[in-house]
Amino acid sequence: MSLPGQLNPTPRLLLGPGPSDAHPRVLSAMATPLLGHLDPQFLQIMTETAEMLRLAYQTKNTLTFPISATGMAGMETTLVNLIEPGDRVVICCKGYFGTRMIDVAGRCGAQLTVLEVPWGQVFDFDRIRDTLRSVRPKVLGIVHAETSTGAYQPLQGLGQLCHEFDTLLVADCVTSLGCVPVALDDWEIDAAYSCSQKGLSCPPGLSPVSFSERAVEAMSQRKTKVQSWYFDMTMIRQYWGGDRAYHHTAPITMVYALREGLRLLLEEGLSARWARHLRNHQALKAGLTAMGLKYSAQEGYQLPQLNAILLPPGVDDLAGRKQLLQEFGIEIGVGLGDFKGKVWRIGLMGYNSRPNNVLLVLAAIEQVLRKQGVSIAPGAGVAAAEQFYATSA
Ligand SMILES: *Cc1c(COP(=O)(O)O)cnc(C)c1O
Repeated sequence: MSLPGQLNPTPRLLLGPGPSDAHPRVLSAMATPLLGHLDPQFLQIMTETAEMLRLAYQTKNTLTFPISATGMAGMETTLVNLIEPGDRVVICCKGYFGTRMIDVAGRCGAQLTVLEVPWGQVFDFDRIRDTLRSVRPKVLGIVHAETSTGAYQPLQGLGQLCHEFDTLLVADCVTSLGCVPVALDDWEIDAAYSCSQKGLSCPPGLSPVSFSERAVEAMSQRKTKVQSWYFDMTMIRQYWGGDRAYHHTAPITMVYALREGLRLLLEEGLSARWARHLRNHQALKAGLTAMGLKYSAQEGYQLPQLNAILLPPGVDDLAGRKQLLQEFGIEIGVGLGDFKGKVWRIGLMGYNSRPNNVLLVLAAIEQVLRKQGVSIAPGAGVAAAEQFYATSA
């Protein structure tokens, strides 16, 4: 075998469902020297990271820190720690990531009740209330931003509703944190998890989690050991919490990255961050709509950071995405599950939510669709987005 050449990946613009491009400041932070994972300086960095994470999640929860793995590990951590075999659990499923929650909760031995709505839609609380009343589950799990469909599930008030029935609310905030409001304390969310590579403009590798006092109390009442050694909160919290007892070697460089990603978020300000995502989404939507494209998610419940559009009839999914990648260096997302081959998913997350990216991706999509015979007036998408930017403050 001849030795592979020095690593030299082609620059891409990552406008899919994640990873999104890391902010240059995050990449610089990652190029700084390693510290030992129990070095006093690194312990300080951990403290700062956890403090900023609380601000990002809008929570005072003590038990707030990143799990050393990707978003799915956050899902697994929250569920394995809260569910014991035989516990009643309700999962609200409206897309691909809901089906994963069902799988993980099932593996925890939950006695499961699944609520479903068609992909692209969201849940109304009346239906959830009826189920809570009849099932009285220990845990209810729901996805805030369903990345597979682009649907935005409102969560405000859901925690209060769950607590009327002594149910703990677990929320998947993987695609929402850093893009749209997430208010763990106001919304009374008991366990939340996210990731580093979407709204926080870092590479994949960390999953910020947070547990409420109610959740901590429920964990302390467990009769059985947590099924997973690595994700057992009783041990990890000793490391991230007070004692700093060795549990595993923290991925030092990823913690640097997350610290910088959170600094960027807080420097910009949460409200400004959300407003930026909304504005770029509205411009993109104006452009896509002018090209005759339709969103797969219900009107009024569309995520600013993840724009899932239905492919026009006759468009070759694979050929289109290949052209986007090869000619324009742009990666967008493929349809998952029920939406395989039927939707394209355009992410505008964190650092990538910028007007130049909106205009570029609209121009590129127009080229690709016109090549495949879709009738679009030349420049229609870009013109509509430009018009939006010019006329909205
Ligand atoms: C991306 C995503 C995940 C999984 O995160 P990974 O970092 O890929 O493990 C989970 N839930 C939702 C809603 C996601 O969008």
